[in-house]
Amino acid sequence: MMRTVLITGASSGIGQACATVLAQDSNYRLLLCARRLQRLEELKQSIQNTYPSCEIFCFELDVRDREAVESVFTNLPKAWRDIDILINNAGLSQGLDGIADGDTGDWDRMIDTNVKGLLYATRYAVPLMAGSTNAHIINIGSIAGKEVYPNGNVYCATKHAVDALTKAMRIDLLEKGIRVSSIDPGMVETEFSEVRFKGDKERAKNVYQGLTPLSGIDIAEIIAFVLSRPKHVNINDLLVMPTAQA
Ligand code: NDP
Repeated sequence: MMRTVLITGASSGIGQACATVLAQDSNYRLLLCARRLQRLEELKQSIQNTYPSCEIFCFELDVRDREAVESVFTNLPKAWRDIDILINNAGLSQGLDGIADGDTGDWDRMIDTNVKGLLYATRYAVPLMAGSTNAHIINIGSIAGKEVYPNGNVYCATKHAVDALTKAMRIDLLEKGIRVSSIDPGMVETEFSEVRFKGDKERAKNVYQGLTPLSGIDIAEIIAFVLSRPKHVNINDLLVMPTAQA
């Protein structure tokens, strides 16, 4: 049965990889959003070069903007107004400073995107799942939602919040028959590290010294597996680490 998947933050990294991997399965059609629409259109083009029959609709969205999330989700083209799967992936870490000297703008961006953005996307996507016979929400958490590391303070707090929200959603959405899973990666080599260090490529690259990080595709393939389980099986929470990450 065809399933429509909405992916937030699909313009790079894990979100882009999810689009690429799910497009290989003719049972999925893709709704892709992020702030960089041009990147989404390029991704759509590249996927459809290989899989011309894969249906894809891209739209620009800043998940921090509650009114935009509500308006865009409720006004999707008619053919895209019923969804089966939401992948709450949009997120970032910014700055790696102690709590006493952190940039409060960074704190706002992380809390607004990772927590409030995930909540808004969920709040306005769930009504679109009302007609689905196989609805599923995947939240991208992190090892940072299980542990706290030096100077990880606010990012770790946002991912601990995602962990709590995944558990809460599983309870609240049970009666609607929506499965809820959390995928919690360790280090994945994406644009994440460069965003964290505000464009400092050298510092971003150094993070992976001494180990082979995961790729976005590694995570996307696991998500495809989670989504492919029969309806009575829910993978609640998966922690996925590079083998060499302590
Ligand atoms: P990337 O920086 O490569 O991708 C982040 C994506 O989120 C981009 O597509 C970006 O798109 C989107 N995004 C950021 N802010 C917003 C916003 N306000 N509104 C809409 N989209 C937004 O990083 P990753 O792929 O690695 O990150 C994806 C998720 O994985 C995040 O939630 C991150 O916390 C989590 N994660 C990453 C790990 C890693 O080591 N990479 C480890 C554990 C978890 P655009 O800029 O176009 O809006």
